[in-house]
Amino acid sequence: AAVIVIAVIIVNRVPTVPVKNLNGSSPVNPALAGITGILMSAAGLPVCLTRPPKLVLHPPPVSKSEIKSIPGVSNTSRKTTKKQAKKGKTPEEVLKKYLQKVRHPPDEDCTICMERLTAPSGYKGPQPTVKPDLVGKLSRCGHIYHIYCLVAMYNNGNKDGSLQCPTCKTIYGVKTGTQPPGKMEYHLIPHSLPGHPDCKTIRIIYSIPPGIQGPEHPNPGKSFSARGFPRHCYLPDSEKGRKVLKLLLVAWDRRLIFAIGTSSTTGESDTVIWNEVHHKTEFGSNLTGHGYPDANYLDNVLAELAAQGISEDSTAQEKD
Ligand SMILES: [Zn+2]
Ligand SMILES: [Zn+2]
Repeated sequence: AAVIVIAVIIVNRVPTVPVKNLNGSSPVNPALAGITGILMSAAGLPVCLTRPPKLVLHPPPVSKSEIKSIPGVSNTSRKTTKKQAKKGKTPEEVLKKYLQKVRHPPDEDCTICMERLTAPSGYKGPQPTVKPDLVGKLSRCGHIYHIYCLVAMYNNGNKDGSLQCPTCKTIYGVKTGTQPPGKMEYHLIPHSLPGHPDCKTIRIIYSIPPGIQGPEHPNPGKSFSARGFPRHCYLPDSEKGRKVLKLLLVAWDRRLIFAIGTSSTTGESDTVIWNEVHHKTEFGSNLTGHGYPDANYLDNVLAELAAQGISEDSTAQEKD
Protein backbone atom coordinates (compact mmCIF):
# COMPACT_ATOMS: atom_id res chain seq x y z
CA ALA A 1 0.00 0.00 0.00
CA ALA A 2 2.88 2.37 0.80
CA VAL A 3 4.29 1.93 -2.71
CA ILE A 4 1.01 3.02 -4.26
CA VAL A 5 0.78 6.09 -2.06
CA ILE A 6 4.30 7.23 -2.99
CA ALA A 7 3.76 6.52 -6.68
CA VAL A 8 0.46 8.39 -6.80
CA ILE A 9 2.01 11.45 -5.20
CA ILE A 10 4.82 11.46 -7.73
CA VAL A 11 2.51 10.90 -10.69
CA ASN A 12 0.47 13.88 -9.61
CA ARG A 13 3.58 16.05 -9.45
CA VAL A 14 5.16 14.80 -12.70
CA PRO A 15 2.25 14.10 -14.98
CA THR A 16 4.16 14.39 -18.23
CA VAL A 17 6.73 11.58 -17.92
CA PRO A 18 6.27 9.56 -21.10
CA VAL A 19 6.10 5.84 -20.50
CA LYS A 20 8.12 5.06 -23.65
CA ASN A 21 11.20 6.41 -21.86
CA LEU A 22 11.12 3.19 -19.86
CA ASN A 23 12.92 1.50 -22.78
CA GLY A 24 15.89 3.75 -22.21
CA SER A 25 16.05 4.82 -25.86
CA SER A 26 15.77 8.49 -25.04
CA PRO A 27 17.46 10.37 -22.23
CA VAL A 28 15.49 10.27 -19.01
CA ASN A 29 16.23 11.02 -15.41
CA PRO A 30 17.18 7.60 -13.95
CA ALA A 31 15.26 8.39 -10.77
CA LEU A 32 12.10 9.03 -12.76
CA ALA A 33 12.61 5.84 -14.72
CA GLY A 34 12.91 3.98 -11.46
CA ILE A 35 9.72 5.51 -10.16
CA THR A 36 7.93 4.65 -13.36
CA GLY A 37 9.22 1.13 -12.96
CA ILE A 38 7.71 0.95 -9.50
CA LEU A 39 4.45 2.26 -10.94
CA MET A 40 4.48 -0.41 -13.62
CA SER A 41 5.18 -3.20 -11.16
CA ALA A 42 2.40 -1.87 -8.95
CA ALA A 43 0.09 -1.94 -11.94
CA GLY A 44 1.18 -5.51 -12.62
CA LEU A 45 0.28 -6.65 -9.11
CA PRO A 46 -3.20 -5.27 -8.54
CA VAL A 47 -4.45 -8.23 -6.51
CA CYS A 48 -1.57 -8.19 -4.06
CA LEU A 49 -1.66 -4.46 -3.48
CA THR A 50 -5.35 -3.73 -3.49
CA ARG A 51 -6.41 -6.46 -1.07
CA PRO A 52 -4.94 -5.56 2.33
CA PRO A 53 -5.70 -7.87 5.27
CA LYS A 54 -9.24 -7.30 6.43
CA LEU A 55 -10.00 -5.72 9.79
CA VAL A 56 -12.40 -7.96 11.71
CA LEU A 57 -13.46 -6.07 14.81
CA HIS A 58 -16.51 -8.10 15.76
CA PRO A 59 -17.47 -11.78 15.87
CA PRO A 60 -20.21 -13.07 13.58
CA PRO A 61 -23.72 -12.28 14.87
CA VAL A 62 -24.50 -14.14 18.09
CA SER A 63 -28.08 -15.02 19.01
CA LYS A 64 -29.20 -14.61 22.61
CA SER A 65 -29.56 -18.37 23.07
CA GLU A 66 -25.89 -18.87 22.11
CA ILE A 67 -24.65 -16.55 24.87
CA LYS A 68 -23.74 -18.53 28.00
CA SER A 69 -22.47 -17.65 31.43
CA ILE A 70 -18.87 -18.56 32.19
CA PRO A 71 -18.39 -21.69 34.32
CA GLY A 72 -16.76 -20.82 37.64
CA VAL A 73 -17.53 -17.10 37.37
CA SER A 74 -20.63 -15.84 39.14
CA ASN A 75 -23.19 -13.61 37.42
CA THR A 76 -22.79 -12.06 33.98
CA SER A 77 -22.47 -8.39 34.82
CA ARG A 78 -21.60 -6.01 37.60
CA LYS A 79 -21.79 -2.30 38.23
CA THR A 80 -19.17 -0.14 39.82
CA THR A 81 -19.32 -0.42 43.56
CA LYS A 82 -18.51 2.90 45.12
CA LYS A 83 -16.47 2.04 48.15
CA GLN A 84 -16.47 4.73 50.77
CA ALA A 85 -13.07 6.21 51.36
CA LYS A 86 -11.78 5.00 54.69
CA LYS A 87 -12.65 7.79 57.06
CA GLY A 88 -10.93 8.92 60.22
CA LYS A 89 -7.45 7.88 59.14
CA THR A 90 -4.89 10.60 58.66
CA PRO A 91 -2.15 10.06 56.05
CA GLU A 92 0.31 9.72 58.93
CA GLU A 93 -1.74 6.85 60.40
CA VAL A 94 -1.98 5.13 57.01
CA LEU A 95 1.75 5.42 56.34
CA LYS A 96 2.72 4.21 59.82
CA LYS A 97 1.48 0.73 58.88
CA TYR A 98 3.94 0.50 55.99
CA LEU A 99 6.98 2.26 57.47
CA GLN A 100 9.80 1.66 59.90
CA LYS A 101 11.58 4.67 61.36
CA VAL A 102 15.23 5.03 60.40
CA ARG A 103 17.29 6.59 63.19
CA HIS A 104 20.55 6.87 61.27
CA PRO A 105 19.69 7.70 57.63
CA PRO A 106 22.20 6.64 54.99
CA ASP A 107 24.10 9.34 53.12
CA GLU A 108 21.88 9.05 50.05
CA ASP A 109 19.32 11.20 48.22
CA CYS A 110 15.59 10.98 48.91
CA THR A 111 14.33 10.31 45.38
CA ILE A 112 11.10 12.23 46.03
CA CYS A 113 12.64 15.62 46.93
CA MET A 114 16.23 14.94 45.76
CA GLU A 115 17.71 16.26 49.05
CA ARG A 116 20.07 14.15 51.16
CA LEU A 117 18.25 11.91 53.65
CA THR A 118 20.61 13.32 56.29
CA ALA A 119 19.16 16.80 55.61
CA PRO A 120 15.53 17.92 56.07
CA SER A 121 13.02 17.25 53.28
CA GLY A 122 13.22 19.72 50.41
CA TYR A 123 9.56 19.25 49.51
CA LYS A 124 7.80 22.57 48.98
CA GLY A 125 4.06 22.71 49.18
CA PRO A 126 1.23 22.28 51.65
CA GLN A 127 2.91 21.43 54.95
CA PRO A 128 2.24 17.89 56.17
CA THR A 129 2.11 17.62 59.96
CA VAL A 130 5.36 15.65 60.13
CA LYS A 131 8.82 16.90 61.03
CA PRO A 132 10.78 17.40 57.78
CA ASP A 133 13.86 15.58 59.04
CA LEU A 134 12.16 12.26 59.91
CA VAL A 135 13.19 9.38 57.66
CA GLY A 136 11.36 6.08 57.14
CA LYS A 137 11.95 2.78 55.39
CA LEU A 138 9.15 1.03 53.49
CA SER A 139 8.75 -2.33 55.21
CA ARG A 140 8.69 -4.74 52.25
CA CYS A 141 10.93 -3.19 49.59
CA GLY A 142 13.29 -1.35 51.99
CA HIS A 143 13.41 1.93 50.07
CA ILE A 144 14.06 4.95 52.29
CA TYR A 145 12.47 8.42 52.08
CA HIS A 146 11.69 11.46 54.20
CA ILE A 147 8.36 10.64 55.88
CA TYR A 148 7.36 14.24 55.08
CA CYS A 149 7.86 13.48 51.37
CA LEU A 150 5.79 10.26 51.56
CA VAL A 151 2.94 12.10 53.30
CA ALA A 152 3.00 14.78 50.60
CA MET A 153 2.95 12.09 47.89
CA TYR A 154 0.04 10.31 49.58
CA ASN A 155 -1.91 13.56 49.80
CA ASN A 156 -1.41 14.12 46.07
CA GLY A 157 -2.97 10.74 45.24
CA ASN A 158 -6.52 9.49 45.70
CA LYS A 159 -5.95 8.79 49.43
CA ASP A 160 -7.38 5.28 49.33
CA GLY A 161 -5.26 3.91 52.17
CA SER A 162 -2.67 2.43 49.80
CA LEU A 163 0.83 3.57 48.93
CA GLN A 164 3.09 2.69 46.01
CA CYS A 165 6.87 2.93 46.35
CA PRO A 166 7.92 5.52 43.74
CA THR A 167 11.20 3.68 43.11
CA CYS A 168 10.23 0.03 42.70
CA LYS A 169 6.40 0.32 42.45
CA THR A 170 5.78 -2.13 45.32
CA ILE A 171 2.19 -1.62 46.44
CA TYR A 172 1.30 -1.33 50.14
CA GLY A 173 -2.35 -1.90 50.96
CA VAL A 174 -4.95 -2.22 48.16
CA LYS A 175 -4.41 0.13 45.26
CA THR A 176 -7.61 1.57 43.80
CA GLY A 177 -8.24 3.85 40.85
CA THR A 178 -10.67 6.55 39.78
CA GLN A 179 -12.70 4.76 37.10
CA PRO A 180 -16.05 6.51 36.72
CA PRO A 181 -19.30 4.56 37.35
CA GLY A 182 -20.41 2.06 34.72
CA LYS A 183 -21.19 -1.55 33.92
CA MET A 184 -19.04 -4.59 33.01
CA GLU A 185 -20.77 -7.53 31.30
CA TYR A 186 -19.06 -10.85 30.57
CA HIS A 187 -20.24 -14.05 28.90
CA LEU A 188 -19.28 -16.82 26.50
CA ILE A 189 -19.88 -16.65 22.76
CA PRO A 190 -19.48 -19.77 20.62
CA HIS A 191 -16.84 -18.46 18.17
CA SER A 192 -13.09 -19.00 18.48
CA LEU A 193 -10.39 -16.36 18.38
CA PRO A 194 -7.49 -16.59 15.90
CA GLY A 195 -4.72 -18.50 17.69
CA HIS A 196 -7.20 -20.19 20.04
CA PRO A 197 -9.07 -22.61 17.75
CA ASP A 198 -9.88 -25.09 20.51
CA CYS A 199 -11.96 -22.89 22.79
CA LYS A 200 -14.88 -20.51 22.79
CA THR A 201 -14.50 -16.83 23.54
CA ILE A 202 -15.15 -14.70 26.60
CA ARG A 203 -16.69 -11.41 25.56
CA ILE A 204 -16.50 -8.44 27.93
CA ILE A 205 -18.68 -5.39 27.31
CA TYR A 206 -17.83 -2.20 29.17
CA SER A 207 -20.41 0.59 29.32
CA ILE A 208 -19.49 3.92 30.85
CA PRO A 209 -21.70 6.96 30.32
CA PRO A 210 -20.35 10.51 30.25
CA GLY A 211 -20.74 12.48 33.47
CA ILE A 212 -19.30 15.01 35.86
CA GLN A 213 -15.83 14.56 37.36
CA GLY A 214 -15.58 13.85 41.07
CA PRO A 215 -13.01 15.18 43.55
CA GLU A 216 -10.63 12.28 42.62
CA HIS A 217 -10.52 13.30 38.93
CA PRO A 218 -8.27 15.78 37.07
CA ASN A 219 -10.88 18.58 36.86
CA PRO A 220 -13.51 18.15 39.60
CA GLY A 221 -16.92 19.54 38.66
CA LYS A 222 -16.13 19.59 34.94
CA SER A 223 -17.91 17.20 32.59
CA PHE A 224 -16.12 14.24 30.97
CA SER A 225 -16.84 12.49 27.68
CA ALA A 226 -16.99 8.72 27.09
CA ARG A 227 -16.22 7.72 23.50
CA GLY A 228 -16.71 4.35 21.81
CA PHE A 229 -18.86 2.74 24.51
CA PRO A 230 -20.04 0.06 24.80
CA ARG A 231 -16.49 -1.27 24.26
CA HIS A 232 -16.27 -4.97 23.37
CA CYS A 233 -13.22 -6.98 24.43
CA TYR A 234 -12.23 -10.61 23.97
CA LEU A 235 -10.39 -13.36 25.83
CA PRO A 236 -10.01 -17.03 24.92
CA ASP A 237 -12.14 -19.24 27.17
CA SER A 238 -9.09 -21.23 28.25
CA GLU A 239 -7.95 -21.83 31.81
CA LYS A 240 -5.62 -18.83 31.59
CA GLY A 241 -8.26 -16.71 29.87
CA ARG A 242 -10.70 -17.33 32.72
CA LYS A 243 -7.99 -16.47 35.23
CA VAL A 244 -7.45 -13.15 33.44
CA LEU A 245 -11.21 -12.50 33.49
CA LYS A 246 -11.39 -13.11 37.27
CA LEU A 247 -8.53 -10.66 37.80
CA LEU A 248 -10.14 -8.11 35.47
CA LEU A 249 -13.25 -8.33 37.67
CA VAL A 250 -11.08 -7.47 40.68
CA ALA A 251 -9.55 -4.60 38.69
CA TRP A 252 -13.06 -3.39 37.82
CA ASP A 253 -14.17 -3.45 41.45
CA ARG A 254 -11.02 -1.51 42.39
CA ARG A 255 -11.82 1.03 39.64
CA LEU A 256 -8.57 0.33 37.78
CA ILE A 257 -9.76 -0.51 34.23
CA PHE A 258 -10.48 3.04 33.10
CA ALA A 259 -9.48 6.52 34.22
CA ILE A 260 -10.31 10.05 33.17
CA GLY A 261 -7.55 11.84 31.29
CA THR A 262 -6.29 12.78 27.83
CA SER A 263 -6.71 10.28 25.01
CA SER A 264 -3.37 9.33 23.46
CA THR A 265 -5.07 8.58 20.13
CA THR A 266 -7.26 11.68 19.73
CA GLY A 267 -5.67 14.15 22.14
CA GLU A 268 -9.08 14.88 23.67
CA SER A 269 -8.87 15.80 27.35
CA ASP A 270 -11.38 15.06 30.12
CA THR A 271 -12.41 11.79 28.53
CA VAL A 272 -12.58 8.15 29.66
CA ILE A 273 -9.31 6.36 28.80
CA TRP A 274 -7.88 2.86 29.32
CA ASN A 275 -5.74 2.62 32.44
CA GLU A 276 -2.58 0.54 31.81
CA VAL A 277 -4.30 -2.86 31.51
CA HIS A 278 -4.43 -3.66 27.80
CA HIS A 279 -7.58 -5.15 26.31
CA LYS A 280 -8.17 -6.89 22.99
CA THR A 281 -10.87 -5.03 21.09
CA GLU A 282 -10.30 -6.62 17.67
CA PHE A 283 -11.99 -10.03 17.45
CA GLY A 284 -10.85 -11.62 14.23
CA SER A 285 -7.61 -9.95 13.12
CA ASN A 286 -4.65 -8.08 14.54
CA LEU A 287 -4.23 -4.95 12.44
CA THR A 288 -4.48 -2.47 15.32
CA GLY A 289 -2.21 -4.40 17.68
CA HIS A 290 -5.26 -4.88 19.88
CA GLY A 291 -6.34 -8.16 18.29
CA TYR A 292 -5.59 -11.85 17.84
CA PRO A 293 -3.49 -13.87 17.28
CA ASP A 294 -1.12 -12.64 19.99
CA ALA A 295 0.66 -15.49 21.74
CA ASN A 296 1.98 -13.27 24.54
CA TYR A 297 -1.20 -11.36 25.36
CA LEU A 298 -2.43 -13.34 28.37
CA ASP A 299 1.00 -13.28 30.03
CA ASN A 300 1.39 -9.56 29.27
CA VAL A 301 -1.99 -8.68 30.76
CA LEU A 302 -1.25 -10.81 33.85
CA ALA A 303 1.94 -8.78 34.31
CA GLU A 304 0.02 -5.52 33.85
CA LEU A 305 -2.53 -6.62 36.44
CA ALA A 306 0.27 -7.62 38.84
CA ALA A 307 1.72 -4.11 38.42
CA GLN A 308 -1.64 -2.82 39.73
CA GLY A 309 -1.35 -5.15 42.72
CA ILE A 310 -3.75 -7.73 41.31
CA SER A 311 -2.78 -11.41 41.30
CA GLU A 312 -4.42 -14.71 42.23
CA ASP A 313 -4.08 -13.78 45.92
CA SER A 314 -6.41 -10.83 45.22
CA THR A 315 -9.29 -13.06 44.07
CA ALA A 316 -9.08 -14.87 47.43
CA GLN A 317 -9.02 -11.52 49.30
CA GLU A 318 -12.09 -10.24 47.44
CA LYS A 319 -14.21 -13.13 48.72
CA ASP A 320 -13.72 -12.05 52.35
ZN1 LIG B 1 12.56 13.79 50.58
ZN1 LIG C 1 10.60 0.30 46.84
